[in-house]
Amino acid sequence: MKFVELAAYFEKIEHVSSRLTITSLLAELFNKLSPEELEKTVYLLQGKVVPSFQKIEFGMAEKTVIKAIVLALNIDKSYFEKESKKMGDLGKAVEFFKKQFISFEEKALTILDTHKELYKIAVAGGDKSQEYKINSLSFLIRQLDPLSTRYLVRIPLALMRLGFSDMTVLDAYSWMIGGDKTLRPLIEHAYHVRPDLGYIGRILKEKGIKEMQKIQPVICTPIIMMRAERLSSGKEIIDQIGECAIEPKYDGFRLQIHYKKENNKAEVRLFSRSLEDVTYMYPDVIEGVKKQIIAKEIIFEGEAIGFDPTTGSFLPFQETVQRKRKYDIIQKAKEIPLKLFSFDLLYLNGINYIHEPFVERRKQLETVIQAKGDVLKDIVVLAPHILMKDPVKIEKNFDTAIAQGLEGIIAKKLNGTYQPGARGWNWIKFKRSYSSKINDTIDCLVMGYDFGKGKRTDFGIGAFLVGIFDKRQEKYATVAKIGTGLTDEEWRTLELRSKKLESKIKPDNYYVDKQMVCDVWISPSIVVEIRADEITKSPVHTAGLALRFPRLERFRDDKRETDTTTLSELKKMLIEQEKV
Ligand code: ATP
Repeated sequence: MKFVELAAYFEKIEHVSSRLTITSLLAELFNKLSPEELEKTVYLLQGKVVPSFQKIEFGMAEKTVIKAIVLALNIDKSYFEKESKKMGDLGKAVEFFKKQFISFEEKALTILDTHKELYKIAVAGGDKSQEYKINSLSFLIRQLDPLSTRYLVRIPLALMRLGFSDMTVLDAYSWMIGGDKTLRPLIEHAYHVRPDLGYIGRILKEKGIKEMQKIQPVICTPIIMMRAERLSSGKEIIDQIGECAIEPKYDGFRLQIHYKKENNKAEVRLFSRSLEDVTYMYPDVIEGVKKQIIAKEIIFEGEAIGFDPTTGSFLPFQETVQRKRKYDIIQKAKEIPLKLFSFDLLYLNGINYIHEPFVERRKQLETVIQAKGDVLKDIVVLAPHILMKDPVKIEKNFDTAIAQGLEGIIAKKLNGTYQPGARGWNWIKFKRSYSSKINDTIDCLVMGYDFGKGKRTDFGIGAFLVGIFDKRQEKYATVAKIGTGLTDEEWRTLELRSKKLESKIKPDNYYVDKQMVCDVWISPSIVVEIRADEITKSPVHTAGLALRFPRLERFRDDKRETDTTTLSELKKMLIEQEKV
């Protein structure tokens, strides 16, 4: 397919907000493509050239893209800048100017040609790379028609934002194959094991739906992480899963480690909960993995937590989180060394372990970690683990964990499988906060904000609206508007992030009462962890429930917009609260 035909679809999608219409447009487009075209198109639709978990960034700022545009169109830079500022959209500006100067160089480039060139631009590195990127982008601008250039320049600037999520693409795949969305669960299951939308699409096209059951984990592609259900007593845990393994719940950050060793060459990749490649942030963990893991190929998980080398005690999350940074990595690694408490094995030397019972996964994990029992030298350690069937002993273990400054405990069902992407009863977290009636925090989506009056105007935000996901309606329903309790730094962070995500209209999947309408809407992206004193019934919040005295605990950059607490979970928390 020619890129110009794809651009026509980009344009149609850009102008609709109904998820159903977008799904059917995508399905129609996908049906017209070859397997390879489908794979690349899906990346381009997301404004990328590779799956989102691969850390390939264009490294082109707006200024550089403008250089490419003025070079291609041979126009005066300041004139172009002035005009594009007036239009407020670089994509539309290049399209406009392209229309004025009909180019003899225009060729009907295909999707594959365009993707290939963009890929080369993205991976170019080294001394002369900026020059190469400008020249190549400029060449593409000359060769493509006006509408195509609108979208082309948005890709390196990460401004594609067509307003749909991975889930819509999965729906569209189901429509493409079966004419409705009934195949989505099967496809989604495969996607949880291998969340590379392009790859999944290509395999569907090439080999059909049957192949989805055969999708296997692969090193360097993260598996969507499994999550825990919550309960608040030893008795409830035993009633639910019987004898189980109890592990401490460390409050650090979860890492999924991918490691392979071939001909003495070792490669390690670390992924966060939101599937971000965070390898570069943790050189100490990488060193530990290389030294201590005995395997050819492995995918395993653990929680990394900071510790004080002088006392050997764990650091609170607020300190550990300082390791999440882009600069001064080596220095901070010395100040806040990490320990990786490893707790699960997903893949080992060609064997997929996700369908194996927990005890088996744990047994294998124990065989691959070499720890010398030296608190200071061992970076990778096994999470301690005791089998228990007595609720009273579980409660005692919980109290000990709290006394050690941990978050609580996690109970693991002995024959439970690893369920990628699911929150299930195979893992149960048991946390308790004594200061409030509810014993867990709630992960909410920031949906919009009001400008506000008084001191808050300094930050441009007076109050922000948060919501959770209502799975039945496939919409975000509101639970609180928060106007106090943030530090100046947090207000500033929120403002900065919100600016980039402002949406002209209320996103289609936001369900908001008139009384909660915001001055500015924010596209689904920012997840915040909220602590509240109580869950109450609410006539104005569309969840039917509201959070009383909500306050920001932390930004959850490790979570995607699809990872918020769900309405059914919040309802369960209300039931738990009523027991207190
Ligand atoms: P929370 O906000 O309670 O940390 P969450 O919503 O981030 O939970 P859950 O899946 O509900 O995520 O809780 C499990 C989290 O606890 C895991 O993602 C992991 O980061 C952390 N964790 C700490 N210790 C363990 C452990 N021993 N086993 C499994 N997960 C652990």
